[in-house]
Amino acid sequence: MTDPRRRVPRTDTLLADPRLAAAARRLGPGLVRRAVTEAQERVRRGELAPESAADAAAGALPPAATTLVPVLNATGVVIHTNLGRAPLSTAAREALLAAAGPTDVEFDLAAGGRARRGRGALAALAEAVPEAGAVHLTNNNAAALVLAATVLAQGRDIVLSRGEMVEIGDGFRLPDLLRSTGARLREVGTTNRTHLADYRDALGPETGCVLKIHPSNFTTTGFVSAVPVAQLATLGVPVVHDIGSGLLRPHPALPGEPDAATSLADGADLVTASADKLLGGPQAGLLLGHRELVERLARHPLARALRVDKLTLAALEATLRGPATPVEQALTACPDRLAARADALAATLRGEGVDAQAQPGQARVGGGGAPEAVLPSAVVALPAALALPLRAGRPALVGRVHGDRLLLDLRTVPEADDGALLDAVRAVARPAPPART
Ligand SMILES: *Cc1c(COP(=O)(O)O)cnc(C)c1O
Repeated sequence: MTDPRRRVPRTDTLLADPRLAAAARRLGPGLVRRAVTEAQERVRRGELAPESAADAAAGALPPAATTLVPVLNATGVVIHTNLGRAPLSTAAREALLAAAGPTDVEFDLAAGGRARRGRGALAALAEAVPEAGAVHLTNNNAAALVLAATVLAQGRDIVLSRGEMVEIGDGFRLPDLLRSTGARLREVGTTNRTHLADYRDALGPETGCVLKIHPSNFTTTGFVSAVPVAQLATLGVPVVHDIGSGLLRPHPALPGEPDAATSLADGADLVTASADKLLGGPQAGLLLGHRELVERLARHPLARALRVDKLTLAALEATLRGPATPVEQALTACPDRLAARADALAATLRGEGVDAQAQPGQARVGGGGAPEAVLPSAVVALPAALALPLRAGRPALVGRVHGDRLLLDLRTVPEADDGALLDAVRAVARPAPPART
């Protein structure tokens, strides 16, 4: 009998396999060639029969041409930055898919000429917040702050409270970001208390603007005081308010969270926010404010470097005009309904021999806002040993490990995904019987 290593199937023979040929058209030739080369290597090492090489290569193909893995977020953190912040609504997903080809993002189909880029998304935002004279969009809120600081305070002073010098995550600090524009920071007040007089004493001919930053990822309690926008608006200099989370109007479930409409009504000249936190949309920066100021921002050369792409515009418009977002549904889900789902899921899994219990849980809004808010929830508790295999699944299922249990929090899992959650657990808790040969 010939040594199997001599009978390594040829690359073109393997690539002619209908599954591999179809995959090359779908995923691109590079990923398919890599799977083929790996299968040939295994044959060469004697680990794989030559006639199984095509099967092995087909089985090793990645499911998509991206290494990003879809995740079921059962962490109980509604806006999980490491999991891509807000999950998009179905309407937003459809909109961005529809915009993926050529689209009239800055073309007037009726007139046959150029049109204002992103006019649909801008109109939807302006309609949602009529308190704003005009609106503009950037790549994210950090970009919105850079644009505002550049236009209002390059070479001049930004006056802000010492209690609002915020690190937003991954080592990025807003004061450093603001200084990178060539603005100087004038810190006023103390860590715990800042008064209107502190701001007033710092104003002068060098003042570019006053900036109020919402501490969206921490709270201070005790002997504390901050100056509300309505008072800052009496100072006679432009007031910029970074509200962070992107609520457009007050939210009944999150009474402590600032919102754009209230801030503008209180006299802020410009509000900046993220679109992918509580607003529940794609990553983008929102700028809302006085018409003349917003137009200056939109015309600044830097605006071109910070502009949003057509996919973002499509998804944002659909978020603003569409049905309740997954974030909104997670925030407002009824605890009794969550408990009923947890009971049903745990009972199903127990019926299949899995060690699973339903328990009450506590979900959180996450880095996107309302750091102290606790949202009553329900979890399915599993053995903690399942955490790693569940994260290795496709889709990956990510929960929270607590002691020797893995808690799957249902507040952050859309009800429509309960079946996918069950399948994910079944796939690792009951290994398939060995394949017959
Ligand atoms: C999240 C946040 C930012 C940063 O926003 P990105 O959209 O991530 O750039 C800035 N300021 C505040 C107050 C925030 O909460």
